[in-house]
Amino acid sequence: MNKMKHILVCEDNEELIRKFSFEAIVVKTKNPEHVGHIGRVVEETNKVHCIELTIEDNLSGLNPLDDWKEVPLHIKAPRMGHFLDFVRVRHLLAPLSVRVFLNSGYEETYTDLQLMSSLGINCGLYFDENPINWKECTDLMDFVVYPKVPRATVEPFHYIITEYQPKETINFSGVYFNNPEKYLHIDKNENVALTAENLTAGKYLFNGVEQIQNIAENKAYKAYFQTWKKKFHKISACSACPAWRICGGFFENRLESNPGCREAFSELIDAADLHYNNKEKENEKQPQLCQL
Ligand code: SF4
Repeated sequence: MNKMKHILVCEDNEELIRKFSFEAIVVKTKNPEHVGHIGRVVEETNKVHCIELTIEDNLSGLNPLDDWKEVPLHIKAPRMGHFLDFVRVRHLLAPLSVRVFLNSGYEETYTDLQLMSSLGINCGLYFDENPINWKECTDLMDFVVYPKVPRATVEPFHYIITEYQPKETINFSGVYFNNPEKYLHIDKNENVALTAENLTAGKYLFNGVEQIQNIAENKAYKAYFQTWKKKFHKISACSACPAWRICGGFFENRLESNPGCREAFSELIDAADLHYNNKEKENEKQPQLCQL
């Protein structure tokens, strides 16, 4: 048993999934037909935390299946697609436990996410090698942080705003099942890695799922949680950034090619702080009633 209660993230591989017994796992698949089936396979020996379905076509071309209702689902699609087609899909997505993520590299993504959120679909941005439009991103953050009417959530901003604590750091990679404090990644050969990127790059912690139970003693695992300190050994864009506590250098590798994160996330941390203080004040104002 994994005493640290990590959630295991793996590919859609039945043989692998049947090898272990975890409280919760995430399965990544590119096959829409396989979502319900793989969910049932997981439940034989494990519990489904989420199925992550990545599709190459636009969301508006998707045909959600009946058995998707059985599992929590993340869908990663490049774009929303044509609005009228999306209206049909929206109707089918509404009864599901689903978050839809769109690629941050497309101009229309930022307004499409506002539309989806307004129509009640929990959604978010995912980031890959495509450039981020920081101006549009800031507008989307404002939309999330200062809602005029109730809407569905938009990640990772909703997570950052709701998890923010004035004296603590946040790792919003958890939104993408990629925070090593909570998730570990495993391939079909049982190589285990801290992140999805490490798994792809062959930077493994160890081989063998049974070793996860001793992960708290693993040197590389322990070292990972000290690596952030090295960033403060010298002045850098991230170590001097006001938004460090909510970003942690997530966009560090694109600082030169795609600058703008500092301004956008500095606004977000100010908003998170305001949100936190308002919530505290509201809690103080609540009348203390006797227990019934
Ligand atoms: S917002 Fe940019 S500069 Fe600031 S910590 Fe994140 S990656 Fe570094």
